[in-house]
Amino acid sequence: MLAQRMQSFGNSGTAAARSAAKAAAAAGTTVLDLSAGEVSADLAPTLYRGALNALEQGVTRYSDTIGMPELREAIAAKLTSETWQIWSADEIAVTAGAKQALFNAAMTLLNPGDEVLIPMPYWSTFPAQVTMAGAKPVFVDTRRTQYLPSIQALRDASSPATRAIIINTPNNPTGAVYSRECLLAIAQFAIENQLWVIFDECYGELTHAPHIHHSIVGLAPELRSRLVIVNAFSKQLAITGWRIGYMAGPAPLIKAVRALQSHTTSNPNVIAQHAVLEHLRSGSGHFVADLREQLLRARHEGLTILAELERVPDPNAQGGFYFYLDLSNLLAPIGADESLRTADDVAARLITRAGVAGVSGVAFGDPAGLRLSYGVSAEQLRSGLPRLVRELNSIR
Ligand code: PLP
Repeated sequence: MLAQRMQSFGNSGTAAARSAAKAAAAAGTTVLDLSAGEVSADLAPTLYRGALNALEQGVTRYSDTIGMPELREAIAAKLTSETWQIWSADEIAVTAGAKQALFNAAMTLLNPGDEVLIPMPYWSTFPAQVTMAGAKPVFVDTRRTQYLPSIQALRDASSPATRAIIINTPNNPTGAVYSRECLLAIAQFAIENQLWVIFDECYGELTHAPHIHHSIVGLAPELRSRLVIVNAFSKQLAITGWRIGYMAGPAPLIKAVRALQSHTTSNPNVIAQHAVLEHLRSGSGHFVADLREQLLRARHEGLTILAELERVPDPNAQGGFYFYLDLSNLLAPIGADESLRTADDVAARLITRAGVAGVSGVAFGDPAGLRLSYGVSAEQLRSGLPRLVRELNSIR
């Protein structure tokens, strides 16, 4: 009944975890839902003002397909300050969140049969979109190298068909922030092998000291002609539902994105565009600083509680807002409990017995991982996370 391509990917694992949490809550279980990829925070006043002004001015119509020119200029100025290189509006496309930016990149850069290197554990949309474009995801295991891809592993995974590599730092789901040295080595590898780098820095504003986010092109300017930067306001301004992000790349690529977007979605929501423009023009940075502070408190609370886990190593949680647990020691055949074969089983047990919802690493290509979001309040973590610790410690 359906097209063949629909056999190569399913609904996102994150969405499935959220539904399981909702179902348990509807059945009467008290659930601490740590499955969401978003932070709960009030709307930034700058966004409120920008959206309201647009409504009052009667803004209703299509804008330029890849975003209002003044917004693309403001984003170019933002990138100029972040990368120490000059960017212009014709190198920017505004999109319906980072997801559309990534989709645009896959559709405009990949041919059927191309291979794309993706560090694993990975955010599940990366391989799904590569597959949609007819290309093949090739995974590079980072679990034994602090969740950073080693150059040797990248080399081993490449072939003459390799066309691109997708880098996401700070990383969803692992919480790793790629070091300067690692990014420089990846840039060098990409240049030597003439690969495109798709650089997803959606969580770039949300790192925790001493870790800092580096722009790969700030470190390796020579990469610029083969680089697509993907970013969104979704996470850093806590407006996941507003669907607004952007991509930056060489002008001919952005021209192709204009054509693609003109036949898919046209412009992203115009009220959200006005709101973000107002934020970029008059935002002081307080909002993001407060958000980081809120996350830092939740992270501290969560790490303190998770330190009580007996057979699960402490998560690194360097950036973004995820604790990523390695459950290898709890799973059969090493563990005695045969009912726990993968993190799917552990995640299901945590919902029913502890009332805590996380996302199984199976969704990220890692059957032994578990992602817990700390985009909730420190109080919520304090009230629910000890239940998860007790349950995991009870597994023998
Ligand atoms: N990239 C990464 C690594 C993400 O984790 C997410 C959302 O979870 C996105 C992109 C998508 O962001 P958006 O909601 O802006 O489309």
